[in-house]
Amino acid sequence: MKAVVVEKPGGPEMLKLVDIPAPIAGDEEILIRVQAGAINRMDILGRRGGASDFKKTTALLGVEVAGIVEQVGQGVTSWKRGDKVMGLVTGGYAEYAVMPANRAMPIPEELSFVEAAAIPEVFLTAYQTLFWIGKLQKKETVLIHAGASGVGTAAIQLAKKVAKATVIVTTGSDDKAAFCKELGADYAINYKKTSFEDEVASITNGQGVNLILDFIGASYWKRNIASASIDGRIVLIGILGGREAEPIDLMMLMGKRLQVTGTLLTPRSDEYKAQLSKELSTHILPLFSNGEIKPIIDRIYPLEEIAQAHIRMEDNQNVGKLVFRIDD
Ligand code: NAP
Repeated sequence: MKAVVVEKPGGPEMLKLVDIPAPIAGDEEILIRVQAGAINRMDILGRRGGASDFKKTTALLGVEVAGIVEQVGQGVTSWKRGDKVMGLVTGGYAEYAVMPANRAMPIPEELSFVEAAAIPEVFLTAYQTLFWIGKLQKKETVLIHAGASGVGTAAIQLAKKVAKATVIVTTGSDDKAAFCKELGADYAINYKKTSFEDEVASITNGQGVNLILDFIGASYWKRNIASASIDGRIVLIGILGGREAEPIDLMMLMGKRLQVTGTLLTPRSDEYKAQLSKELSTHILPLFSNGEIKPIIDRIYPLEEIAQAHIRMEDNQNVGKLVFRIDD
């Protein structure tokens, strides 16, 4: 099969289209003929050599695909050849990928493969961090950093539709801010023009927000604590602004009774991912079918041009997802 691999850690030029043997579905697995997949920040880390172990020669990147079931392994009764599925994989930049059968999600009939490929990683992450970890309650206020990112655009929609929350986002441009408002955000702050903590204080009458989804980390640490309400929750999902935070007054954590949680989806167990995928399928996929929630796609690339998508993501240009398509 054709696949895009990283031959040695480095820049986008290290991504190479090669021919390698296709995988085979093992017990309780399905083999998917990939029609589309998407780019994620962890692919960039993997390409640079920061997240995966480059054991010998090549590293196959890509954590999500949408496609057609080609083969089912021993013990699989939930899917059959020809079914259209999407979900989390290892090695998705390829014409074929395997996935544990209990993690696959059905593609709603109304969606194309390209649209489906823009769903798994960001909607699973947003759902998990808003509701399972962040415990977002109806009508609470949530601050979503990097609002125009893949995860951010998913989180805006879920927070509005599922919890009817008041949604405040931060973004790095007025265009991105306008897009987030069109998508449902109540307030969009351009953090390059104004300090978000002052804006949050003004919007919430000094009360702060109940929940913060933070992809930025160190550079926002102090300001997040200042922006959280009493009994607030901060869920750390990314460290785009650095991993080593400056010291803080711990009294702030106690005084506000804050809960700070960090999480990573990829290293979670197969059982966890299966349960999360099942819950998203049951509760959220119907909202895609009736158009209440939509996958947000920035650009679509052929498999062989994935390097261009990496460059766009590293330049912080994308609004929503960068997707690759494989034409039969
Ligand atoms: P994305 O679509 O690539 O968007 C990221 C955006 O973050 C950028 O476009 C940029 O938008 C903003 N940004 C970048 N550096 C920044 C900085 N130093 N300060 C402020 N804003 C900055 O990202 P994504 O795929 O949605 O992922 C978002 C984050 O979530 C990534 O860090 C990713 O690794 C993480 N993630 C974590 C998990 C998990 O399980 N923990 C799962 C999925 C993703 P502006 O122009 O608005 O600045």
